[in-house]
Amino acid sequence: MKIAVIPGDGIGSEITKQGKKVLRTVAHKYKFDLEYEDVLLGGSALDEKGTPLPEETIRICQNSEAVLLGAVGGPKWDHFPGNLRPEAGLLGIRKALGVFANLRPAILFPELKSASNLKDEVLGKGLDIMIVRELLGGAYFGEKNTVNIKGGQKAWDTISYSSFEIDRITRKSFEIARKRNKKLTLVDKSNVLESSKLWRKIVGKISREYSDVEVSCMYVDNAAMQLIRDPAQFDVILTENMFGDILSDEASMLTGSLGMLPSASVRGDSFGLYEPVHGSAPDIAGCNKANPIGTIMSAAMMLKYSFNRADIAENIKNAVSEVLSGGYRTPDIAVKNSKIVGTEEMGDLICKKI
Ligand code: NAD
Repeated sequence: MKIAVIPGDGIGSEITKQGKKVLRTVAHKYKFDLEYEDVLLGGSALDEKGTPLPEETIRICQNSEAVLLGAVGGPKWDHFPGNLRPEAGLLGIRKALGVFANLRPAILFPELKSASNLKDEVLGKGLDIMIVRELLGGAYFGEKNTVNIKGGQKAWDTISYSSFEIDRITRKSFEIARKRNKKLTLVDKSNVLESSKLWRKIVGKISREYSDVEVSCMYVDNAAMQLIRDPAQFDVILTENMFGDILSDEASMLTGSLGMLPSASVRGDSFGLYEPVHGSAPDIAGCNKANPIGTIMSAAMMLKYSFNRADIAENIKNAVSEVLSGGYRTPDIAVKNSKIVGTEEMGDLICKKI
C-alpha cells in the first residue's frame, strides 16, 4: 500500500497520527507492506511554502494509491484572500485528484445511542445512511465575485452543473444503492433552482436503467427536517455539493459527534481521498482531546474502497465498537460514567482490539 498522508492544520496531525497507527497495526496483522509519506496542505503549507497547495503535494498524492487527510484551516489564516486560504488548498487537491463523489456514511454505533441528540424511539434500531455528495461542482466551484456598486458592494456565487457531472455521480449512487437497501433519495431544490431541475431530469432518466432501486425526490429544506424526524427512512441520499456539505454535518450529530464520521472521495478507479467530515477544530487543537474515530474509520474506508479489503475494514469497525462497548470515550462523546480518554489513548485502545 502506497499512501500519502496530509495531516493539515489544527487537530489534523493528532488524528492522522492515530489513522497511521491503525494502518500500521493492520499491515502487521494481515502481512502487507505499507509505505506512506506526509505532505503539506492548507495553513501549514502556506506557512512553509507560501501556498496552501504546493505542487509537490499534488505530485505525491497523484503518485499514491490513496490519500489520508486530516483537516485544514484555522483563525490564523482567516485574513488571507480566498485563493490563499487553507480551504482553497482543500478544494484544489480534490479537483486535482478528480475525486467527484464524496461518500459520507452516517452510522450510529449502538454503544453511542445515548450520545445522539435524538430520542431513543426516533433512533429505533439504529442508523445507517449513505450521503453521496457531488464534490467538484456547484457553488463552491462556480463563477464568483465581489464588485463595488453605488452605495456598497455586491457579491455572488453561481451553482452550475453540466449533465456530464450529474450523470457520473448519479450512476455511482445507483451502484452504491444496489449494494445496500436499494433506496435512493435525490435531495434538491427544484421548485426554485434551475440546476436542481437538471438534476431531477437526469436522475429520472438514469433511474430507468436501475429499476431494482426505488427512487424518490425531496426538497432540501424538507430533507433537513426529515433527517431529524425520521432518519431511518433514508438509505442513500444523492445531492449536490453545498446541500451535501450541510446535510452530512447535520447527520453527524445523529450519530453522536462530528468526530465520529468518516468520508471517502472517489472517482471511477480504485484511487480515493479519505478524510473525516469535521474540520480542524482549532478550539481543541494540541489538547489531546480530539476524537480520532472519524479518521480511523476513514482509513477503514480506504482499505475497503481502494484496496478491496472489506474484511480489514470490518475488523477496524468491530475494534472501534468493542472499545466503545468498554465505556471508553473521548470528551465529545462522553456520557455519565464514561472512561474519558485522550486522542492518543483512544488510538492505542483501538489498535489493541485489532
Ligand atoms: P470543526 O468541524 O472544525 O469544529 C466544529 C466543532 O466540532 C468544534 O467545537 C470542534 O471542537 C468539534 N470537533 C470537530 N472535530 C472534532 C473531533 N474530531 N473531536 C472532537 N470534537 C471535534 O468546524 P469549524 O469550527 O466550523 O471550523 C474550524 C476550521 O476548520 C475552519 O477553518 C474551517 O474552514 C475548517 N474546516 C475544514 C474542513 C476540512 O478540512 N475538511 C471541514 C470543515 C471546516
